[in-house]
Amino acid sequence: MAFIEQNKNGVLFHESDLFAGRGGILHAFTTRIGGVSEGVYDSLNLRLASDDDPSRVRENYSILARAVGFPVERLTLPDQQHTCTVRAVGEDDAGKGLFRPRDYEAVDALVTNTPNLPIITFSADCGIAVFYDSAAHCIGAAHAGWRGTAGGIMARTVETMCDLYGASPDTIRVAIGACIDKCCFETDDDVADVMRDALGDAAAQFCAHDGKKWHIDLKAINRHHLLQSGVRAENIDISPLCTACNTDLYWSHRLLGERRGAQAGVIMLLK
Ligand SMILES: [Zn+2]
Repeated sequence: MAFIEQNKNGVLFHESDLFAGRGGILHAFTTRIGGVSEGVYDSLNLRLASDDDPSRVRENYSILARAVGFPVERLTLPDQQHTCTVRAVGEDDAGKGLFRPRDYEAVDALVTNTPNLPIITFSADCGIAVFYDSAAHCIGAAHAGWRGTAGGIMARTVETMCDLYGASPDTIRVAIGACIDKCCFETDDDVADVMRDALGDAAAQFCAHDGKKWHIDLKAINRHHLLQSGVRAENIDISPLCTACNTDLYWSHRLLGERRGAQAGVIMLLK
């Protein structure tokens, strides 16, 4: 398992080879490289809720869609608010959040079994993941900041794919994109306490104290929730990159604050 770098028309993104040879989908984890935004938003900023020029952000979506091969006008967005809410979307939702108003809010993961309906999840340090069950032919895209990570949104996404579409944890594959890693995710007691409340004794293996601060391993906690929900270890791929260590490739909320863009993971069933 590995994240493979792709460069199409100057757009730099990563694909997980976990999905290689499974022709039923396309997917990509974006970087900052290849868009038209400038300054702190240089350059493939996908965050409309920034003070970046909205026309540039929309152009970035079109550039990304051409590079990856999805219909931008059908891209369907979540409304990320650090919840553990998973929403199923279908044909009626195509384009919501970008080209059409959303009639839902506080949704941090999307699932669908509708072909040609790209779904997306955004990050600027938070964990993100895309899901695919090639047997049940359904997909998911989930956002997991530390609250969503603690709350188990990864497992909720698996459960929703199983409940609605007949997916099985045995056959679901999950690629977790770059996020802030334990090297840079330093916290006070509050985050460690939430992890302990959520995970019990298991939290100790994911939260290390250096004498002053906690270092929390979000990727490992999300992996833990996936394993607990029955996803096989060999069907989970995790980007090795830390967003805060690689600001040439990624925006980091921790380093940049509110004046920052966002990268994303996108996935679509082809047919
Ligand atoms: Zn780091």
